[in-house]
Amino acid sequence: MKFSKLFIKTKKDYPKDEVAVSSQLLIRAGYIDKVAAGVYTLLPFGLKVVSKIITQIRSEMDAADAQEIYMPGLVPKANWETTDRWKTFDALYKLKGADEREFALGATHEEIVVPLAREFVESYKDLPLALYQIQNKFRNEIRAKSGVLRTREFLMKDLYSFHKNEEDLNQYYDKMIQSYWNIFDKCGIKEKTYLTFASGGTFCKYSHEFQTETEAGEDEIYVCAECKTGLNSDILADQENGKFKCPDCANTEYEIKKAVEVGNIFKLGTKYSKPFDLNFVDEKGKKNLVIMGCYGIGIQRLMGTIVEINHDEKGIIWPKAVAPYDVHLISLEGSEKRGEEVYQALFKAGISVLYDDRDISAGEKFADCDLIGIPYRLVVSQRTQDKIEVKKRDEDETKQLSEEELLKILG
Ligand code: ATP
Ligand code: MG
Repeated sequence: MKFSKLFIKTKKDYPKDEVAVSSQLLIRAGYIDKVAAGVYTLLPFGLKVVSKIITQIRSEMDAADAQEIYMPGLVPKANWETTDRWKTFDALYKLKGADEREFALGATHEEIVVPLAREFVESYKDLPLALYQIQNKFRNEIRAKSGVLRTREFLMKDLYSFHKNEEDLNQYYDKMIQSYWNIFDKCGIKEKTYLTFASGGTFCKYSHEFQTETEAGEDEIYVCAECKTGLNSDILADQENGKFKCPDCANTEYEIKKAVEVGNIFKLGTKYSKPFDLNFVDEKGKKNLVIMGCYGIGIQRLMGTIVEINHDEKGIIWPKAVAPYDVHLISLEGSEKRGEEVYQALFKAGISVLYDDRDISAGEKFADCDLIGIPYRLVVSQRTQDKIEVKKRDEDETKQLSEEELLKILG
């Protein structure tokens, strides 16, 4: 992509009510545009990052034998009434259609996926089953002040698993924990993320959240000083005398951290299979309710969290797997022809390039490059001649490489 052809421009400023550093940087660097509190447009760079994150998530979900579907955003009132959530789910956006039929915009999708599974699941042979989607969720959040970390419309990966017994659910649940770690590793936030026990509902004492430590987070977690397992402060009341005791190793020493929930996994049991009467016939010919789990990741929240963890005073520092481009090429005055040559050569080699071919000062180009945060900066100038100056975004050292040498390190 040539910068001169892009419709976006980087900005010096951001909206005054934008308090989270991640959203300030994402706005200034041209990844997102704020429409209203909790409502954002993804601009070309932002959409590329989101697509890269989705690619990572998809490969992990597919590896866990989950099948991708796409459910509607309009969820009929009758479905919410079946689960008793029309009145109790505060964050629902409700609307009436032309024929007076009422809907709520999907804030979560048990109300669609469970009746769907009911159409196909008959016997134990149809289980286990895992269905997921990457789709927009709508939530009428009261607090929407943390930029993309808490929005009213956002992409979520939501997976629902269906099992014949608890043991099978437990196995899948543990597998998903590993899948989530793989995703957060690729996204460059694993080191700062804690598997955190949170309240679990009727079926299970605990659910688990993946909480990433950041000052921008709205949650408070207690992290075990021994094994680094987290406990959400909201469930502390369940603990003996409301005092911290690690649910994993029983240690009582802890550290309090501010964190954001990037993912949530939950053993639902029969909470939704019961109202929809989703059952199966077991090996002995007996009818049983299907046991379920659900597993969510907020995509834009994850993008924001990556930026919270990976930035410096100059801008964003994207981990390779989710960067909008592989390299950021800059040609300085007098080297436009050489810039074009290198751009074409990289393009042919399958490297994705943001090429800053604009007629602006070198200082402005370098500042934008640091702000945008692509892993490699490449510079061609009269000084570099037939070589290319290469610098990693997170290092100061520059190297002069030939095209061939460059392709080797990028390959
Ligand atoms: P929170 O506790 O932050 O309100 P939640 O517990 O309601 O989130 P879930 O219903 O479990 O969240 O949704 C699954 C995932 O979707 C969360 O782990 C988070 O990554 C993301 N998510 C939830 N609400 C929002 C939101 N308002 N904006 C952006 N992402 C969200
Ligand atoms: Mg939560």
